Amino acid sequence: MKILVLNCGSSSLKYQLIDMTNENALAKGLVERIGIDGSRLVHEGTGDKFVLETPIADHKAAIGHVTDALINAAHGVIKNIDEINAVGHRVVHGGEHFAGSVIITDEVKKAIIECADLAPLHNPPNLTGILAAEELLPGKPQCGVFDTAFHQTMPAKAYMYALPMELYDKYKIRRYGFHGTSHRYVSQKAAELLGKPVASLKLVTCHLGNGASVCAVDGGKSVDTSMGFTPLEGLIMGTRCGDIDPAVVQFIMDKEKIDIKAALDIFNKKSGVLGISCVSSDFRDIEDAAAAGNKQAELALDSFCYRVAKYVGSYAAAMNGIDAVIFTAGLGENGKIVREKVCGYLTYLGVQIDLEKNNVRGKFVDIGKPEATVRPLIVPTNEELVIARDTAELLK
Ligand code: ADP
Repeated sequence: MKILVLNCGSSSLKYQLIDMTNENALAKGLVERIGIDGSRLVHEGTGDKFVLETPIADHKAAIGHVTDALINAAHGVIKNIDEINAVGHRVVHGGEHFAGSVIITDEVKKAIIECADLAPLHNPPNLTGILAAEELLPGKPQCGVFDTAFHQTMPAKAYMYALPMELYDKYKIRRYGFHGTSHRYVSQKAAELLGKPVASLKLVTCHLGNGASVCAVDGGKSVDTSMGFTPLEGLIMGTRCGDIDPAVVQFIMDKEKIDIKAALDIFNKKSGVLGISCVSSDFRDIEDAAAAGNKQAELALDSFCYRVAKYVGSYAAAMNGIDAVIFTAGLGENGKIVREKVCGYLTYLGVQIDLEKNNVRGKFVDIGKPEATVRPLIVPTNEELVIARDTAELLK
């Protein structure tokens, strides 16, 4: 069985074709700048990268180029579109509608539109991708895998904000959490590495990329997570501020004489480690600058790690102890300095990092000293594989 996995953003589309007999990606790629000047497809299938620079007006055209690349005589990996058995779509927000992955029906599409209010930048392009794929691959089952679904097991005490209850009743304002596909996958893989059933473990998973979130996973279920109503809450991120006093919003608007849109732009795009460091949103640049003596870069790095550690500590309290701390995503998998600094705060819990074992990138490995009673682990994430697995499961 071969599953096409699609992740549609507003002007981009990431894809993988996964062969479920061995769970290998036969091909993967990216379409960038959909609907704007300079659009292109970068495809990796057999051998060399194939780059196609051509105007790509919309998502339907983009998916058309993807399927063309997949069956292309030189760069393709299948002979015929019919070899694709189903399509799995990443959908960011499922609200309270979805606690798991589903086959896309008219009802599901309606629910995705209903959630567009909650994720205006993500759900509309996700749905556009679904509609385009339905047209271009008629008769193929389409499945939706939601970033929020894994967190639907959170208890009300974790997901409710202390706001008037009527705001929840009227608008469903609450914490939803994101990166659920990744937190689910790495918590299960961590259990493999620890040689214990996930149902018996208390884990804290740290998904540290440009966007970053921490999740408390008790017995394989999400019981708390740092992102909230939107992905702006929680950790300090590449360009997002994470937790701040809500009173700061009005204060900045008054002092800077800006409207709410401009204020949100600051919180989403100009804050985080970029804001503190004035160097970059990329941790590689920040680490280099800090090593060269840039104090603001050093502060950004310290503030980021401090916040991660505070969340891990609070989740250890929430679950009354933990068995392991898991690092994943671009920074979690590659950033040894960040792992070392975060673990440095957690020795009281029993985390003991082995600096030699920590000196790796992207490995599936336990980086703890033998005596560590709480194991620090690196677990590379694979959200596309989860989407493909869920899709294959739904087809059964
Ligand atoms: P996203 O999917 O949210 O865009 P990723 O999970 O791809 O993000 O993570 C990207 C981030 O990972 C980069 O911003 C960079 O800070 C960090 N990163 C990647 N490689 C390294 C590395 N070798 N050292 C430190 N940080 C790294």
